[in-house]
Amino acid sequence: MIKRLTIFGVGLIGGSLAMALRAAGTCHEVVGCSRSEDHLRQALERGVIDRYTLDPAEAVQGADMVVLAVPLGAMRAVCAAIRGHLAPDAALTDVGSAKGSVVEAVREGFGEMPLNFVPGHPIAGTEKSGVSAAFPGLFHGRRVILTPLETSDLGALARVRTMWEETGAVVETLSVAHHDEVLAATSHLPHLLAFGLVDSLARMGERDEIFRYAAGGFRDFTRIASSDPVMWRDICLANREAILQVMAGYQQDLGLITRAIEAGDGDALLEIFQRAKTARDEFCQ
Ligand code: NAP
Repeated sequence: MIKRLTIFGVGLIGGSLAMALRAAGTCHEVVGCSRSEDHLRQALERGVIDRYTLDPAEAVQGADMVVLAVPLGAMRAVCAAIRGHLAPDAALTDVGSAKGSVVEAVREGFGEMPLNFVPGHPIAGTEKSGVSAAFPGLFHGRRVILTPLETSDLGALARVRTMWEETGAVVETLSVAHHDEVLAATSHLPHLLAFGLVDSLARMGERDEIFRYAAGGFRDFTRIASSDPVMWRDICLANREAILQVMAGYQQDLGLITRAIEAGDGDALLEIFQRAKTARDEFCQ
């Protein structure tokens, strides 16, 4: 049972976490903190949090669990603001989509690595943002990846794991570097392809004409281009190396398709498409 949960950033992810834990009855009190009193009041009115404050130091008073659910670019400033105010037994975790940059931000913000810090990332979300998009079932049956550090306290790790399991999530652990490589391929690259494709089509001459004839496949493929641009800018900057590596590999593979089309090589195209269909049918049952 969490006695007092403090959430920095009561948006889609932070708000959904609070709602899930309240629904499970495993959290006594939720305190929200961010920059906008309007957003926090909205969270209070929706029953997502019990109270809020705009003062980060006050927000962590008496908290036994502190979750950083702000954009990647804001992690360092929040840590600097709560430095020296966390209770010694408070577990600290985050939900950031890239882990290496958060680990650095936490180290810089605190001036050292807090022993109770356990980095985390729920592999769940939607293309919507803000507390109005939050819902308690967001993590149910989804994976949450924890990337504990060598310094991470085992008791804090167990408590963060339990917190996520109480939302209905399946918790796994990976190293920070492995997480960032895997997510660059499975999440970051697809988002960049969707943003790039929609932008490219939107800038073509006959824009209205093109979107008028866009059908279900285009909608499916590009849904994630409606995601928050600021969040995705932060992710690109935060996971730069892994994203560049996976993009280079993808550009090479796209070159194979281009060359097969140029050469009229139907067999090569069929081989690629068949391999892709088999892989997707197997993994996305
Ligand atoms: P969101 O809905 O926009 O919520 C972000 C929250 O952070 C807002 O409540 C905002 O409130 C607060 N905030 C923004 N800047 C802040 C600052 N400088 N200091 C304090 N609070 C600040 O975003 P989200 O989708 O929940 O994403 C939050 C985190 O979850 C990100 O790190 C992201 O990488 C990660 N994540 C997102 C997804 C996804 O699919 N969306 C999935 C997994 C992980 P105010 O405006 O009141 O400050």
